[in-house]
Amino acid sequence: MRIEITRVIDVPDELVGVNALEAIVREEGFALMRELFGTLWQRFQALHWRCPQCGSREVESAGEKTFDLLTAFGKVDLPRQRLECQQCGTIAKPLDDWLRALGEHRATWLVQELACLAGASWPFEAAETIVERVLLGPISHEQVRQVSTADGERVATQLATEAQAVLEAPVMDKGAEDPQGINVVVDGDWVRSRDNPEGMEGKVGVVDTGVAKVGKDRRKLVNRRYAVTFNGSDLLGKLVDAEASKLGVEQAQRLRLLGDGAAWEETIQAEHFPRAKRVLDLWHLERRIRRALQSVFASQPDELILQREKLRCWIRQGKAEETLAELRGFAERYREVPKELAKTIGYVERHRSAIINDEADLATGKHVGSGAVEKAGDLVINRRFKGRRGMRWWRKNADALATLRVLYLNGDWDQHWLQRRSYPPKAA
Ligand SMILES: [Zn+2]
Repeated sequence: MRIEITRVIDVPDELVGVNALEAIVREEGFALMRELFGTLWQRFQALHWRCPQCGSREVESAGEKTFDLLTAFGKVDLPRQRLECQQCGTIAKPLDDWLRALGEHRATWLVQELACLAGASWPFEAAETIVERVLLGPISHEQVRQVSTADGERVATQLATEAQAVLEAPVMDKGAEDPQGINVVVDGDWVRSRDNPEGMEGKVGVVDTGVAKVGKDRRKLVNRRYAVTFNGSDLLGKLVDAEASKLGVEQAQRLRLLGDGAAWEETIQAEHFPRAKRVLDLWHLERRIRRALQSVFASQPDELILQREKLRCWIRQGKAEETLAELRGFAERYREVPKELAKTIGYVERHRSAIINDEADLATGKHVGSGAVEKAGDLVINRRFKGRRGMRWWRKNADALATLRVLYLNGDWDQHWLQRRSYPPKAA
């Protein structure tokens, strides 16, 4: 079909600069796009002037209803024709399947994608501002919240289903490139909750196939993939398992599980990675030891520095027993052992087998231990869910948004939206 569309635009003769010019062109351009959208909608509606049930063209108008749709160039009001079939009596609206394809929101996929990206990245108020600037139209932060959490929920369900499938039929043919084995990092971060006064824990897993040098001093993890859930370690175990499976975990020569020693890590290891070497995150271990030493040598700054340096070397060399003996020696000086010292002794005792000699890895730049755990939680959880005025979250919403963040971090975002936009919708 050929469309001719004309539009008369009044432009002030006195303009103050390119910004004013841009504003006019954008506003008028968007208005033109909305007009074209409406005109084409009417044309297509006319082309579908028949009964969807029996195919008869003997249909009569049975009124009109407006459907307000948010598009990439603002809101359009679409007249929806109701038709009554004279043959079979069916009442239907042409193009209804077009609108059904958008799901539960009155917004095109482009708008929904934008709302999801903004909602997963920034606080809802900021997300609202950004989406409004792009669309030149009103969208509320409540709409951003609804669209992004609905989509995140859908993705989370899909990932959980996939993970269950992987568990039942492990992927065996992947993993051609395996220079350094596979590292699995797990971490939990607490977020303020609306469901629970004690807060709730977002659990994060990261899988990678080692470390590569980028530039002189920077290193990055290779083939890094994230998993996240606010619904417990059982599910996280499955999700991480599925991501590890994509990287060929079944074939990996070397498999390591890094964490800060939380009890649920052991469960994940037992159920999903029984042959992994457990490694305690150096950053957490060092922090514990620093606190213990602080409680012992608070009044002896020189000694504190010496002891700190000594134990720092020991734990990097995997000298867990020596470290433990040293800490116990400090404890013997007291009738009542300082709390931080007692806690650290317990920590080292519990995790002594996970304190390994990292020096060889440190020397070759393959080391991923220190801070890797902390960084994972920071990226997926803390940056979006903590901060300003103590944000509080419903578990369902936090889980949905964290899932969207992971979708993006894993580089699966474009694929997901291509799939969602395709019409008729493809099966996932
Ligand atoms: Zn009919």
